Amino acid sequence: MKKGRFSGLFRVIFGFFGIFLLLLFERVGILYGSNTSDSYVLSTDRITRVKESKKAKTCLVIIDSDNKSSANAYEQYEQILKDMRIQTRVWDLSLDKFEQDYFNEIKDDVETLIFCINDYSQFGESILSITNWVKQGGRALIGITPSKSREFEMISSKLGIVETGDSYARVDDFTSADGFMLGAQNTYVIEDAYESALSVQLDESCRIYAYAGDGKVPLIWSIGYGEGRFVFCNFGYMGKAYRGIYSSAYTLLEDICIYPVINASTFYIDDFPSPVPPGDGQYIKRDYGMGIADFYSSIWWPEMLALGSQHNVKYTGLIIENYNDTTSGELEANKSTADYYYYGNMLLNQGGELGYHGYNHQPLCGPDYVYQEDLGYKTWDSAETMEDSLKELIDFATGIYPAATLSVYVPPSDVLSAEGREILGYRIPEIKTIASIYFEGADAYAQEFTVSEDGIIETPRIVSSCNIDDFMKMASFSELNFHFITSHFMHPDDLLDEDRGAALGWEKLKENLNEYMDWIDISAPDIRHVTGSGMAGAVQRYVNTSHDYEVFDNSISFTCDGLIDSAYYMVRCNEGVITSSYGANITRINETLYLMHVKSGKVTLIRNKDKK
Ligand SMILES: [Zn+2]
Repeated sequence: MKKGRFSGLFRVIFGFFGIFLLLLFERVGILYGSNTSDSYVLSTDRITRVKESKKAKTCLVIIDSDNKSSANAYEQYEQILKDMRIQTRVWDLSLDKFEQDYFNEIKDDVETLIFCINDYSQFGESILSITNWVKQGGRALIGITPSKSREFEMISSKLGIVETGDSYARVDDFTSADGFMLGAQNTYVIEDAYESALSVQLDESCRIYAYAGDGKVPLIWSIGYGEGRFVFCNFGYMGKAYRGIYSSAYTLLEDICIYPVINASTFYIDDFPSPVPPGDGQYIKRDYGMGIADFYSSIWWPEMLALGSQHNVKYTGLIIENYNDTTSGELEANKSTADYYYYGNMLLNQGGELGYHGYNHQPLCGPDYVYQEDLGYKTWDSAETMEDSLKELIDFATGIYPAATLSVYVPPSDVLSAEGREILGYRIPEIKTIASIYFEGADAYAQEFTVSEDGIIETPRIVSSCNIDDFMKMASFSELNFHFITSHFMHPDDLLDEDRGAALGWEKLKENLNEYMDWIDISAPDIRHVTGSGMAGAVQRYVNTSHDYEVFDNSISFTCDGLIDSAYYMVRCNEGVITSSYGANITRINETLYLMHVKSGKVTLIRNKDKK
C-alpha cells in the first residue's frame, strides 16, 4: 500500500522531470540539427591526417607531362587516386624515356598500371614488355583514348579490339551497364559533344560496362589477357565533372577494390532567410497574380517544405542580414527581423540547419582585390571591416536563433579572396566549414572535399538551381559514384532570375527539382541525408582514415587507422559476392557494389567467389 503510493508519486515526479527535460532540450536546440549521428563536426585537433594511405605504392601511372592531353588527364587522375587512397608511382616519359629493362626491374612491385597517355609511339616495341606483364597477372587501365599509332596497333588485339575504324566516333551520351555505376537507370547527355572515342569493333570476350549511342560506341570494357586483365576507357572527355567515370573504371581492374567515400547528400538554400524583395516579380505575377512576399510565404516555402519531407531532405539555409552595399565605416544591424523568425524557425523545426552567407552580399575581397569578372561587387576597405561584417552577422543570427548552432559559411556568389579566406580560418572560430563551389570559375573559390591546414572543412557544392542541365546531371552522376555524395544549392530568387529559369515558372521548376530528388532516391536509396554541418562532419571522418586490405579466395581482410567513430567505404566486388561481414555493416547497392559502414579498425568480409 505504502509502496504503491510512493511509486505513484515517483511517476508524477518523473513525468514532470521528463517534461522539464524535453523543454530544456528544445530550448538548447538538441532537437534541432543532425548532431545525433556520426557526422557531427569534430573539434579540429581530432583530425590528425588528411587523405593518407597505408597501402604500398603498387599503382604505376605513365604520363607525359609535355603532352597536353596526358597532362590534362593526369590532373584529374592525380586527385581521383589521392581521394581513393591509391598510392602511386609516376613515370613521366618527358623526363625518363620508357626503358624495357627498368620496367622489368620494377614490375614485380606493380599491381596496377594506368596509361595516362594517348601517344603510344613513345614506347616503341618495348610496349610488349607491359602486355607481357599483364599476361602474367598484371592489371592495366587504358586511362584515356589512345591516338592511332603503329605501337597501339601492335597491342590492340590484346585489348579486345578486332577492328579500328578510320574516323573517331562521336560520343553524345554515356550509359552505364546495369550493375556497374550508380544511376545506371539514366543516360547522361554530354554538352558540346565531339568525336572523342575510337571507333572499334570488339572481340566477343570483352565485357562492356558503358557505352554511347544506344550501344553503338563502347566506352568502357574489360578483357582478360593470360592471368591478367585490361580495362579500356574509350570516353575521351576529361574534367572534374567526369571523375566518377574514371574512378569507376579503375575499380574494374582487380577482383576487389575498396575506397573511402563521404556518403552524404545536401541541399542548400542560399540567401535564405534574407530580406524579401519588395513588389512584384514578372513571372510570379504572371503565374500566381501575387507579389513576391505573398508568393514566398504561401506557395514557394510550403511547397519546398513538402518536397523536403517527401524526399527526406533537410535544408541548410544561408543567412544574409541585408542587401546594402556598405563595405566601410559603420555596419548597421538589420532591425526588421520578422521574416527571419518566421522562415528560419520553420526551417530549423523541419530538421534543417542555418549557416552564414554574409552581412550583406559583398564577397570578402579587400581593397587590393581586382575582380576578374565584374558582377557589380565592391571591395571592402580593410580586413578589419570584413571581420566586423562577419561578427555583425554572427551577432544578428545568434540573437534570433539562440538555440541553433551555425557553423557553415557560403561565400556570396562563391567569391572569396585569399585575404577573406584567411580571416575565416584564423579570426572567426564560429565558422568551421566553407561550402563554396566544386567547379572553377572567374573569382570562384573552387574546392576539393578536404580539411585545410587551418582546420576549415571544405565542402564544395556541385550543382545548382531548378534548371538542372545536362552538364549538372553528368556531374551529379559522376560525384555520386566517386565520393558517394550529392550537393545542390538554389535561391528563393531563382524565380526572379531568367538565367536560372524564372520564365519557366515555379510549377516547372518545382517539377525539375522533384525529378532531381527522385533521381537521388532511386540511384542511392542508402545515401545519408544531412545538413551542411553533417556533410562537414562526414568529410572530417573521410579524410582522417587510411586503410589497407588483403584479398583471399573466400575473404577480405581490411584494416584502417584514424577511425573516429565510423567511416564509409565502397567495395567493388568483380568476382563473386560478399555474403557477410565482421566489424562493419555491409549493404549491397547494385550487382557489384557494396556500401561498407566501418565501425572497427579491423574488418573481415566473407566472399563466395563462385556466386553471382
Ligand atoms: Zn547569395
